[in-house]
Amino acid sequence: MEQQGFSSIHLKNCPKCHGLMEEGFILDGTHGPSNRVSLWVRGLAEKGFFRGVKTWKKTKIPVTTYRCQSCGFLESYARIREEENRK
Ligand SMILES: [Zn+2]
Repeated sequence: MEQQGFSSIHLKNCPKCHGLMEEGFILDGTHGPSNRVSLWVRGLAEKGFFRGVKTWKKTKIPVTTYRCQSCGFLESYARIREEENRK
């Protein structure tokens, strides 16, 4: 269980080369007129990043993608953060 603060970036080891992987997310380029390539962005999507999207009725989980600094391998997780269960 990882219940650390969600404001900190998690690091893990690459399953391919055992290099250091850092947490980030994929920025979908479909919203822009010319950006067709999805981008990996280091760090966490800021709160409110998805605000304004009216298709939020269904359960949507932001995808966290780890990127290996050595070989560039990407590993994605769709984990529900503890944000909404804050006491
Ligand atoms: Zn690697």
